[in-house]
Amino acid sequence: MNREVEHAFLPVTSVSSGKGNLVIRDVYCYTNQIVNICFINTSNNKWVLIDAGMPKSAEKIIKGAEKQFGQGCRPEAIILTHGHFDHVGSVEVLAEHWDIPVYAHQLEFPYLTGNEDYPPGDPTVDGGIISEMSPLFPNHSIDIKNRLRGLPGDGSIPFLTEWRWIHTPGHTPGHISLYRDKDSALIVGDAFVTVDQESLYKVMTQQQEIHGPPAYFTMDWDAAKESVRTLKGLEPEIAITGHGVPMSGEELKRDLSNLAENFDTIARPKSKSK
Ligand SMILES: [Zn+2]
Ligand SMILES: [Zn+2]
Repeated sequence: MNREVEHAFLPVTSVSSGKGNLVIRDVYCYTNQIVNICFINTSNNKWVLIDAGMPKSAEKIIKGAEKQFGQGCRPEAIILTHGHFDHVGSVEVLAEHWDIPVYAHQLEFPYLTGNEDYPPGDPTVDGGIISEMSPLFPNHSIDIKNRLRGLPGDGSIPFLTEWRWIHTPGHTPGHISLYRDKDSALIVGDAFVTVDQESLYKVMTQQQEIHGPPAYFTMDWDAAKESVRTLKGLEPEIAITGHGVPMSGEELKRDLSNLAENFDTIARPKSKSK
């Protein structure tokens, strides 16, 4: 990977960038260029950050958080859905700035400890310009060993007592989603998304439509299909995805069922068919 490209500001953004929404009473979803991160308010202005956005975005994320929780606020921890560059882009700077731990699934550790790189973006998956650009996206392992902790094996999530993590591999080996039973709220990560992440136009305009995981970076399509079925089985009322606008209610039920039932047609690229 060319370091110049890696450290450059990636010129992909969307109409939602820099905006945020209180999607649920205590879950604030903030869009950083093309990726969503969540601030979950636990109590008395205590909060947890889910994912850490694009590279060079720490300042924007800190400002976005301060708007919600006040000047000088600091989360208890960062929880990562997975280690792709658009989800961990600012994690080193943020964890250092706040002096907090970062939690992830053990199977994602190689990509977070400098041991293993993800496969490079695959331009042969069908789709648009973003797939074609994807070999330029950073795919290298970061190293946050000193801050990294494993998620507890019982499905619980530190500091988020109402939530549990669900292993949703496929897009990456240690990918997780977060689920809260009391209101059937789901934070999906990239297990599925609500925008056609391969199309630059649709990413820019954030046109809402359910899709499988971003194809150019997905490592195991059979596991990805199983993970979508697992998430569908939870019957979520609202889904906040790593990319795209949150989806809820009947529309979510209908579209997620459709995706789970017709995953190979809707999500799996033709070049990856069995
Ligand atoms: Zn991803
Ligand atoms: Zn992503």
